[in-house]
Amino acid sequence: MFVERLERIRTELKARELPAILITDPINRYYVSGFRGSAGALLISKKAALLLTDFRYIESASSQTTGYEIVKVDRGVAKAFPDLLRKAGVDRVGFESAHVTYAAYQEWTEGVPAEALVPVYGMVENLRSVKEQEEIALIREAVSISDGAYEHLKKFIRPGMAEKDVAWELEVWMRTHGAEDVAFDSIVASGPNGAMPHAVPSERAIRQGEPVVVDIGARVRGYHSDMTRTFCLGVGDETFHRVYDIVLEAQETAEKRLRPGMQGSEGDALARDIIAAAGHGDEFGHSLGHGVGLAVHELPRLAASSEDVLEPRQVVTVEPGIYIPGWGGVRIEDTVLVTRAGVEILTQAAKEPILPVND
Ligand code: ZN
Ligand code: ZN
Repeated sequence: MFVERLERIRTELKARELPAILITDPINRYYVSGFRGSAGALLISKKAALLLTDFRYIESASSQTTGYEIVKVDRGVAKAFPDLLRKAGVDRVGFESAHVTYAAYQEWTEGVPAEALVPVYGMVENLRSVKEQEEIALIREAVSISDGAYEHLKKFIRPGMAEKDVAWELEVWMRTHGAEDVAFDSIVASGPNGAMPHAVPSERAIRQGEPVVVDIGARVRGYHSDMTRTFCLGVGDETFHRVYDIVLEAQETAEKRLRPGMQGSEGDALARDIIAAAGHGDEFGHSLGHGVGLAVHELPRLAASSEDVLEPRQVVTVEPGIYIPGWGGVRIEDTVLVTRAGVEILTQAAKEPILPVND
């Protein structure tokens, strides 16, 4: 798997007429090499594949990777740069411009001329967006864990419970049912708190009849899931049902119509047009969705400004929402797999606007 990915990097280098690339982002580094240490970089050229790390990781680096020459750089990449370029047989190298600090860049230019450093944007991220079968299988596992957590929520949630306690119960459930970690800080936002798309669970007690937004995900061997459901306990008022139906229609329409070849902006519009036509355009302030994989937010982006083109085997979220300050919010989110014909919805949790009150 990692050997093929290394070859894909080389094909990409050739297409971009770049002699080499220095990969420093930890997720990209893991994707290309399998190396999990907290410090290290990859220098890949046509003939060389170097894994640069310090003495702490020399042993784990050789056991986690194949096809790489492990190079010990105890005094940092900057000092070793001229030697490394010589070793790789190149005089120019791409670097991941989105992941390198200005300070690091300045340090590097003390050893090599600035012309030798070519900013490269999103190269590995683009490769990562199209998933291999093993990756899809891990995402499916992560999705089924968050689905299970939501099923569990239906049994334990009660009016009077604090948002924080609901979030904790969900997180514990995921961790004890196969997740190595949660995908991100869970969101449980009741009543007016739901008007903040990224609300932090608070001590606020959940009340009957108020919308509750629950956004959770699990992580399995590095791969994430991401889902949101919104519900009222017992009953919902007229506003809730009206807003819920609009969001659900926008969400399901987008899932029905998304297909490969579509631009991210066209995908976004599938849902946005419905919400805008219903008079809530200004209350859907975020984009429709994002890629999911080794990062919870990755390429492609389903956003009004996105020129990313959807491809089979990409995994994205579809998550329209409407947020009304002082009242609350409704968001419904599935993780879906782009297929050759459209999308397969991975998230299985039912979309029920009203959950019965447990006794
Ligand atoms: Zn989410
Ligand atoms: Zn999301």
